[in-house]
Amino acid sequence: MNINIVTVKNNVDKVNLRGDFVKIIIDPGHGGKDPGGGNNEYWKEKDMNLKISLYQYERFKDLGINVEMTRKRDIYLSQEERTKKVRGSGAEICISNHINSAYNKSAQGVEIIHSIYTDGTLAGLIMEELKVMGAKGRRVFSKTHPNMPGKDYYYMNRLTGNVETVIVEYGFASNREDSKRILDNWQQYAEAVVAGVCEYINYPYNKDINYTKIIGKSEVTLRKMQDWARNNKATEKFIGAAEKYIKYGEITGIRADILYSQSGKETNFGRYTGVVTEDMNNFAGIKVKNPTGDQSKDHERFLTVDDGVRGHFNHMCAYVGIEPVGKVHDRYFVVKSLSWAGKVKYVKQLGGKWAPDPRYGISIIEDYLTKLLNTTVEYNDYKVLYENCKKENAVLKESIRELRNKLEKIATIAEV
Ligand SMILES: [Zn+2]
Repeated sequence: MNINIVTVKNNVDKVNLRGDFVKIIIDPGHGGKDPGGGNNEYWKEKDMNLKISLYQYERFKDLGINVEMTRKRDIYLSQEERTKKVRGSGAEICISNHINSAYNKSAQGVEIIHSIYTDGTLAGLIMEELKVMGAKGRRVFSKTHPNMPGKDYYYMNRLTGNVETVIVEYGFASNREDSKRILDNWQQYAEAVVAGVCEYINYPYNKDINYTKIIGKSEVTLRKMQDWARNNKATEKFIGAAEKYIKYGEITGIRADILYSQSGKETNFGRYTGVVTEDMNNFAGIKVKNPTGDQSKDHERFLTVDDGVRGHFNHMCAYVGIEPVGKVHDRYFVVKSLSWAGKVKYVKQLGGKWAPDPRYGISIIEDYLTKLLNTTVEYNDYKVLYENCKKENAVLKESIRELRNKLEKIATIAEV
């Protein structure tokens, strides 16, 4: 048995890394005759670890990243067999998946353990992504072995050579809330780890349509938005509102193309086939402060198109944690009071929040945004093109003016 394992672990050189050169090994903890300790009435730890690991294995493959597993089936591996696989894999990074357990039933949250020879950057990034996905954070830590100075306490950290290993404990099987969270969200948690690794190795990940961030720059022009709207037989009012979406996208930093897509879904391209009517200028199905049902009167009414679009952006501001623009509608404060307010990052996460449908966000991306992004614009009429550019320029100029005003106001407040 070779005990002389290299123990000095270097942080991966982030600048040079791309998926082609990086290899990941995923380790589903326990297996076979060893069920693990994180069991409850819903699962055995070894099975949940394997489910999460297989998900990640497929996702890394999809992303074009070289990936391997220590086990793909329910088999037992000794410490030596397991760590030998990791050491011999040629991987730079190992993710060891586990579920925690404690006598104290109130103990809950995610724990990520990194080697004492790393600074915990990778573990920290994974924790951040998990929290974004609604997991409860407990701690990121490393632990020295009490009887082996200079060695890691946990064998997956200690015996995996120069492979940078993090042990991810997704929560406590002994805790009711953690168990529910893991049952409901294990795919999202598994995905969060993939995201954290990609961020660490500087691998382009955001392009994945399932991980589209709400904050960012619009990927389409005003002309493209309007062409897309016309292709979908939108009303003139809806087509006209595109200008306002560009404007408030610039002011808030929220993607105008995403919110315009959402509005396409919510209003049926301005045709309003539900209880909200066109004259209400409500582009996103925003409700009043205390709705009693799902009638027209339960929805917010905005004075103008500009106010309505501003309301849409302001509402999203409460979700993603950005300051709203101008006076806000009542429902904004209701969102602000919720536990996840300001923490929503991805369009996908709007599901079950903006609307009860868990696929709401995914539908915005798949059924609307993707089609908007793929709309081709034919610039055969240069006069129209010129006029549109002029219009877009004017909208941007107005946005800049408003931003300046805002800044001046802030400066004034600061002086007082
Ligand atoms: Zn375990």
